[in-house]
Amino acid sequence: MDHFPVFMAVSGRRIVLSGGGDAAMAKLRLILKTTANVVVYADDAAAEIHSWAADGKLTFVARAMQTGDAVDTVLFYAANEDDVEDARVAAIAHAEGAQVNIVDNLHDSDFITPAIVDRDPVVVAIGTEGAAPVLARKIKADIEAQLPVSLGLLAKIGKTFRHAVDVLPMGGKRRSFWSEFYFNAGPKAVDAEGKSAVIPTLATLLDKHIMTTEKAGHVDLVGAGPGDPELLTLKARNALDKADVVIHDRLVTPEILELARREATIIDAGKTGFGPAMAQGDIDALIVEHALKGHHVVRLKAGDPTVFGRLDEEIDACDAAGISWRVVPGITAASAAVANIGQSLTKRDRNSSVRFITGHDTKGYADHDWRALAQNGEVAAIYMGKKSARFIQGRLLMHGANPATPVTIIENVSRTDQQIIATTLAELEPTLTRANLRGPAITFYGLAPRAALDVADTLPLEELA
Ligand code: SAH
Repeated sequence: MDHFPVFMAVSGRRIVLSGGGDAAMAKLRLILKTTANVVVYADDAAAEIHSWAADGKLTFVARAMQTGDAVDTVLFYAANEDDVEDARVAAIAHAEGAQVNIVDNLHDSDFITPAIVDRDPVVVAIGTEGAAPVLARKIKADIEAQLPVSLGLLAKIGKTFRHAVDVLPMGGKRRSFWSEFYFNAGPKAVDAEGKSAVIPTLATLLDKHIMTTEKAGHVDLVGAGPGDPELLTLKARNALDKADVVIHDRLVTPEILELARREATIIDAGKTGFGPAMAQGDIDALIVEHALKGHHVVRLKAGDPTVFGRLDEEIDACDAAGISWRVVPGITAASAAVANIGQSLTKRDRNSSVRFITGHDTKGYADHDWRALAQNGEVAAIYMGKKSARFIQGRLLMHGANPATPVTIIENVSRTDQQIIATTLAELEPTLTRANLRGPAITFYGLAPRAALDVADTLPLEELA
């Protein structure tokens, strides 16, 4: 950046311009938007300049600029469209301490005048350091189109109303009030009824915002189940029906998101196992941010939020921000998967307990009580177990587990592309590698699909080695 944009205080101060032709008029049209003291020196000047002088908008002195004319002057424009004359007057202005702009001479100018979008007091200045005037014009046109014409008026009136808005809590609520005023309710009121409608509009809008502020935000931490919308609880459906904002996991299916209230904002906080992820801290912050705006946030998690769901971090974040929360349970992958292989998680005389274990945790492959798991009849549901399959297999065999123990992998549980792969502990790898599963998969150690049970039991041991 060779030129640094600043907004210079010019009110009541002298801005002097030398010249009376087209270039002078173009600059004057901009300068006359200010509350500066504008003085023009020229032997001869266009009629428009004379009429501005007659209207008291500027002082016109009908002679060429001389020494002493740029004393006490903040900005000086050399706009004579004559290089020699411009150089002469610029030298005088420099000597008298003014910042000098020579029209169409970037090199010898102290400053340049940007393209301006004027919604006084809102002013947007656009500069390209002379490189791309076309671009500046295009950007100016785009911004002109974006900012309501009444914005300046609204900003002036809004300023007088600022203290009244202190009743709204800082942050999102206040921002939403002002943005509604400047870009929607305000311009509409001015268009329909003119300036006098602005204050009543502000008052009505403020009442509306005060009322919604009283509605505190809330977070429902909801289990979405394994994917089939019919496996949602009624509580989960009701929560989705009322949600202002839904923040969901990668594993939540589009069919379930379809059920969210039409006006709800849907945010994907998807976290892929090993790929780019949204940090948990950022998800916590996102939930809190939306709830603090007074929104009903549904944090939608695959399966049951209490199973490998990082639920506690999110509850802690709500507590820290003083936001009310509720957990809505869901059907965990293990429950849906075991149903689909026609088995029970526990069974009399086989296993009186079942373990939900994870293949990996924050430190890498997760360790478990392998000796206990290696006992006959033990059952475990292994979540996030694809990458760690070889590790788990090795640990269990090392601790004496029967290589013929049935193992079932169920991919995309409850979805149309569900796949069930029955194998044994000995064959878990390479079966998994061969299957090259892309979807989420849960692995049952110690369970075979009901129909295949006999087959697995009767496999000769040498085939399992
Ligand atoms: N809270 C979730 C588990 C989140 S951990 C629940 O209760 O189900 C993510 C793991 O869950 C996946 O790696 C996979 O092992 C399992 N999982 C989740 N949805 C699944 C699905 N539809 N099919 C198979 N496994 C699933």
